[in-house]
Amino acid sequence: MDKNMLYRSIPKVDVLLADEKVQMLIETYSRETVMESIHLEMNRLRAYIAKCEDEEEAKRQIEALTEKIERTVSAMHTPNMRMVMNGTGTILHTNLGRAPISPEHMKRVAAIATGYSNLEYNLEAGRRGERYSHFEKLLCKITGAEAAMAVNNNAASVMLILSSLAKGGEVIVSRGELVEIGGKFRIPDVMEQSGASLVEVGTTNKTHYDDYEDAITEETKALLKVHTSNYRIVGFTDTVGIDELIPLAKEHDLPVVEDLGSGVLIDLERYGLTHEPTVQESIAKGADVVCFSGDKLLGGPQAGIIIGKKKYIDMMKKNQLTRALRIDKFTAATLELVLQEYLSEEKAVQNIPVLRMITKSLDEVTKDAKKLCRILKAAKLSAEISVVPLESQIGGGSLPLERIASMGVAINPEKISITELEERLRHMPVPLIPRTANDTVLIDVRTMDEQNFKLLAKQLQELQVFEEKSLIEVR
Ligand SMILES: *Cc1c(COP(=O)(O)O)cnc(C)c1O
Repeated sequence: MDKNMLYRSIPKVDVLLADEKVQMLIETYSRETVMESIHLEMNRLRAYIAKCEDEEEAKRQIEALTEKIERTVSAMHTPNMRMVMNGTGTILHTNLGRAPISPEHMKRVAAIATGYSNLEYNLEAGRRGERYSHFEKLLCKITGAEAAMAVNNNAASVMLILSSLAKGGEVIVSRGELVEIGGKFRIPDVMEQSGASLVEVGTTNKTHYDDYEDAITEETKALLKVHTSNYRIVGFTDTVGIDELIPLAKEHDLPVVEDLGSGVLIDLERYGLTHEPTVQESIAKGADVVCFSGDKLLGGPQAGIIIGKKKYIDMMKKNQLTRALRIDKFTAATLELVLQEYLSEEKAVQNIPVLRMITKSLDEVTKDAKKLCRILKAAKLSAEISVVPLESQIGGGSLPLERIASMGVAINPEKISITELEERLRHMPVPLIPRTANDTVLIDVRTMDEQNFKLLAKQLQELQVFEEKSLIEVR
C-alpha cells in the first residue's frame, strides 16, 4: 500500500479554498473558522492514513474531506446549549433547566429585552425607579405580604436575609431542617457565608417548643424555619409549626424567617396532590420574612423571591450584597408575566407550563400517549412500540414522595441495543432524554408536547436511528 501516494492525493489548501462548496462556507460562516476546520480535518486525515490498512477506505476518506470540513465548520457555529426533549416525566428536572417558560411569555420578554425598557426608570415620575417595582405589588397582592423583592435564586435569598437580619449574631434552626439542596449546597453552609452563626436545636426527628425557647439569648437575631423540600422525616417525629414560633418570637422581639423552598401559590390538593404549604399560608400565620424559588413550583424564571414585613425587606434592599445578587431584566420581565397569571388560578394552571404539566389528567396523558404511539408506529421504525402506564415526579426537590399517575410509550429496538439507542437519542439534533427501566426505553408524555411528538418521529425516521448503521454521528 503506497501511503506516500495517499498523502499526495490529499488536496492542497489553496485547491480546497478554490472549491465552490468551501467558498460558500466562507460566505455563510467566516474565513477564520473555515481555515481552522480545513487544518483540523487535514490533520485528522493524515493521522488516519498513518494507521490505515485499507487503501480503498483511505481513498473514500480523502474524497469525503470537503464534506467533513463542512460539518466541522457548521458545528463550530452551532450553539452547544440547545433545546432537548424531556421524556423522563420529571417536571422540574434540574439538569434540564427546571421550569420551562411559555412561548407567549418569552415573546413578550424578547420585545422588552431586544430594546430599551423601564427596568429602573419610573415613567410616572420621570426619574430613577426600582427594578422590583414591576412585580412587587403583584407579589403583595397574591401573597398578602407588605413588601417584596427578588434576587438571583433562593440560595441567594437565604444568604441575603441572614446577612441583613442576623450578621454577627445567632440564628436558631431545628436539626431536622438542615437541608442539602443538591449540587452539594447545604443550607448550614450558605448561612455561614452570610456571617450569621447557626444555633442548631432539637434532634433530627424531634424538635420541641422548649428547644427554641431555651436557645434564645442576647445574641439571637432570628428564628429560621426551613421547609424540608427534598426529603421527609417520617415515624416518631415532632416539629414546631410557624404558628407556635410567632408568639415566642414576638415575646423576644425577633423575626421569624421561613425558607419555603418551592413557593407554591395555589392549593395543589385541589388537583389531587398532597397538600403543600402555600406561601399565602405562611404570610397569614404571621411569618416576618418568607423566601422561595422562582423556578420550582411557581413555574417562573430562576429567582429567589423574598416577601414579608416592609421594615425587613427595606433592610435587604439596602444591603450591599443585594447589588451582587440582583436579578437582570430577563428575570424581572418574566417574573412579572408569570405572576400576573396567578391573578386567576384558572389562568395560572392553563398558561404556566409547570402547573399545566402537574395538573394534566390521566385521561389527557393517556390520549397523548396513544397519539405518540400512533405517530411512531406510522414512521415504520425497526422497533416494538407500545403504550404503558408510568409515574411522573415533580422533581426539583419539591414533593419528593409524590408520584403522579402518567402514561407513555415503551420502545424496544429490534436491531440495536438499548444502550446504543440511548446514546443515539442523545446525539440527535434535538436530543431526547428518556427514562429506562427493565431494558426498555420509556418516554413519559407528561413532560412532552405534540410538537415534540412530531419532531421525535421525524428525527427517528430521517436519521435511521433504529437501523444498524444510522446517520447519527456519535463523536
Ligand atoms: C431549592 C431550595 C433552595 C434553593 O433554591 P434555588 O432557587 O435552587 O437556589 C433553598 N432552600 C430550600 C428549602 C429549597 O428547597
